[in-house]
Amino acid sequence: MTTIKWKVPLLDLGPQHRALRAELRAAVERVLDSQRFVLGPEVEALEREVAQYSQTRFAVGCASGSDALLLALMALDIKAGDEVITTPFSFFATAGAIARLGARPVFADIDPRTYTLDVSRAEAAVTARTRAIIPVHLYGQCADMDALLDLSRVKGLSLVEDAAQAIGAKMGGRCAGSMGLVGCLSFYPSKNLGGAGDGGMLLTSDEDLRDRLRRLRVHGGASEYHHDEVGINSRLDALQAAVLRVKLRLLEHWSEGRRKRAARYTNFFREADLGFELSPPFTPPDTLHIFHQYVIRVPGYRDALMKHLLQSGIESRVYYPVPLHLQPCFKYLGCERGAFPEAERAALETLALPCYPELTDEQQEYVLARVGSFRP
Ligand SMILES: *Cc1c(COP(=O)(O)O)cnc(C)c1O
Repeated sequence: MTTIKWKVPLLDLGPQHRALRAELRAAVERVLDSQRFVLGPEVEALEREVAQYSQTRFAVGCASGSDALLLALMALDIKAGDEVITTPFSFFATAGAIARLGARPVFADIDPRTYTLDVSRAEAAVTARTRAIIPVHLYGQCADMDALLDLSRVKGLSLVEDAAQAIGAKMGGRCAGSMGLVGCLSFYPSKNLGGAGDGGMLLTSDEDLRDRLRRLRVHGGASEYHHDEVGINSRLDALQAAVLRVKLRLLEHWSEGRRKRAARYTNFFREADLGFELSPPFTPPDTLHIFHQYVIRVPGYRDALMKHLLQSGIESRVYYPVPLHLQPCFKYLGCERGAFPEAERAALETLALPCYPELTDEQQEYVLARVGSFRP
């Protein structure tokens, strides 16, 4: 594979790390000196700070966002024979966690405007075996949580939020990951709050659930070498926690930077006479989007636009090119092409453009000019 020298990459962590170099080094050295590398005081401090930031009573660190989803479902005793409803338009981990426990992922199509779970479709998918629903706050925007909370209450289902892309996003003043029974965060390096490696966290305000999650992440033992149940090894490193604590202090500022750049794109796309159809992201009222990705819809010309940008040295990307119900590993679920038309259409029509807080005005102007010069 040849490495492309992008004029505008989709994400560049360089400027953010250069600006924080001294603080990050001090944090890493503090952990090295402490000799406490796994869980411990640094992780506990991050758990308190993230819980406060996300408006939940508790937070439980773990090894990744994928594990956060798995641990959440384990804590709810999801098992073979159970059904869990989720979106087919997400990162693999959302459905993977369900299948990993022997339960059945049941997909419901997305709302074509927000790309998040269509609640009426989710409702239609409920059966006597349904135990939980996992909405995904895709690209940094909350799913329709009021309707999902109503649905889960009426049907007696647990609501697990996949907030891996949405730390600090809000809906009606409430934080992503704090509205359901449990919320799952990822600190993968490219997420809005990214570590220097893998990391994840669970958010909950339920004390019993917090205790169970704390046990499950250390092989099911409340104290060392005593195991009440079979858990997994999924602990957060102190080095990651120390790095994340430095970065958490800047997260609001960075999210603001992303929103500003998103607004600039959207204003341009609304006003410019492009000569082809391009829909900017739709943000329902009373929601705070954190623009983990800035995703446009370009019916018919997505791939051509992507190629045009590539030739201009601008990186763009498709999240996600293959909906989950069409993944080979889920063939056994028996969903044919056409089963979830909106997810399938989104996979063909959407494109993420560079929208990170350090994207310069010149870079963004260049992207706008190149999109403007595209002729189908
Ligand atoms: C990143 C992501 C995950 C998984 O997080 P990891 O830390 O990479 O394991 C889960 N769900 C969604 C929607 C994600 O974007």
